[in-house]
Amino acid sequence: MPTHIPHWIDGARRNGASGRTGEVTDSATGEVIGEVALADASEVDAAVAAATAAFPGWRDTSLAKRTAVLFRFRELLNTRKPELAAIITAEHGKVLDDALGEVSRGQEVVEYACGVPSLVRGGFTENASTNVDVYSIRQPLGPVVIISPFNFPAMVPMWFFPIAIATGNTVVLKPSEQDPSAALWMAELWKEAGLPDGVFNVVQGDKVAVDRLLEHPEIRSVSFVGSTAIARYVYETGTRNGKRVQALGGAKNHMVVLPDADLDLAADAAVNSGFGSAGERCMAISAVVAVGGIGDDLVARIAERTATLRTGDGRKGSDMGPLISKRHRDRVASYVEAGEKEGAKLVVDGRQVTPDGSEDGFWLGPTLVDHVEPPMSVYTDEIFGPVLSVLRVDTYEHAVELINRNEYGNGTAIFTNDGGAARRFQHEVQVGMIGINVPIPVPMAYYSFGGWKSSLFGDSHAHGAEGVHFFTRGKVITSRWLDPSHGGLNLGFPQNA
Ligand code: NAD
Repeated sequence: MPTHIPHWIDGARRNGASGRTGEVTDSATGEVIGEVALADASEVDAAVAAATAAFPGWRDTSLAKRTAVLFRFRELLNTRKPELAAIITAEHGKVLDDALGEVSRGQEVVEYACGVPSLVRGGFTENASTNVDVYSIRQPLGPVVIISPFNFPAMVPMWFFPIAIATGNTVVLKPSEQDPSAALWMAELWKEAGLPDGVFNVVQGDKVAVDRLLEHPEIRSVSFVGSTAIARYVYETGTRNGKRVQALGGAKNHMVVLPDADLDLAADAAVNSGFGSAGERCMAISAVVAVGGIGDDLVARIAERTATLRTGDGRKGSDMGPLISKRHRDRVASYVEAGEKEGAKLVVDGRQVTPDGSEDGFWLGPTLVDHVEPPMSVYTDEIFGPVLSVLRVDTYEHAVELINRNEYGNGTAIFTNDGGAARRFQHEVQVGMIGINVPIPVPMAYYSFGGWKSSLFGDSHAHGAEGVHFFTRGKVITSRWLDPSHGGLNLGFPQNA
């Protein structure tokens, strides 16, 4: 009997009451291991009510006390992260090491948020006008919403909630219904760390829950991460309802290899970033762009490495786990088929993989497709699976043109030993996050994460200074402490004196 995966509202587990549930599977065995509650509007309202009620108390809790809770959360997370990694591997399928890596990257944001007293420090100008001081402060928004995708069930929520909580907001997290248990585990950890009930809530659900959150009058902001179509929808609906929205969407990340690059280093990077987490990363490289006649050599080196990868159950020491669901696996495989039909050359066919794991797992091995051309669907669409395409261009200029014509602008990388070329690339390419001889350039927590074009809707990227800005709003105070010399009437516009 699959276990019921409930909501977390006002500091306690709450079983679903809508009568609707979704199946949660172990991707490596295909077994249904959980039945997740799918909230209706009244359950969403209960979570928002808890967040609304907790807000005044949390907002007014001193920075010293808030930081103490954050430090405890960080310590507990650091000690117990193998438990969280095991939950991620069971529901998502990524291998254990990778799941641990995900938690550690999330933990960085918790550590960044521990410095909240200096992050929200305002400015002060003494004697801006005679005996007049001007200063600025930043205050929390209120109850905020985070809606996260399946591929990083711990890290993506942690891009947002440590900063939201540290700056005095209260949170409703709506995780992906495909791997919902990590959110509950983190909610319990917050409680153990001493966070007051109602400050962090989890609503399990699907579109019904999202739609209610987007229109709820008490919700102040929405941080969304997922596919571009839904990101656009969330951005348009949320902003129409008066909310501050940052909606991070899909990606198609190119890795340019210039002729002077170290081809072994480039081949290692292409394999690691293309097939890690079975390609289910928004910063995965999906298109390798070989510049100026190195194509055959580079493809041979990538193919040689790809052949050594072991696909299998993430708990058994494999390099690459299964995909999230059978439906997604079949969709990714259909792109391989389409690529072949459209004239691309299949170098390594992951559909033939023999996995180290149950035959009912959602397997697709690493797949390498060469001679891909821009009009092919294997290039135009975000595939989100272990399929690496190789395109060939004559010049650096054509490589940049290709990337800048692409709908997405999340991440990109250039491999070269020419500093001038790399510098020119970082200046010219229309992409939010750039790696120079680094294939997955996910910024550290104290910088901000986000793409350009259809990879992000809204003004603010995640975490770093932009995250702090997103979760706070400013006030500027002009003050004068009166003495008798300030008397007298003057109806003119205040001017400096
Ligand atoms: P998804 O868009 O299907 O789901 C994301 C969230 O939206 C989930 O919580 C889901 O329940 C909800 N949702 C799904 N359909 C909805 C609908 N019709 N209306 C309202 N809400 C809906 O994305 P996914 O498949 O879970 O995740 C993979 C996608 O996320 C990929 O496109 C990937 O590139 C993207 N992603 C982007 C980033 C980034 O930083 N840009 C990071 C991680 C993942």
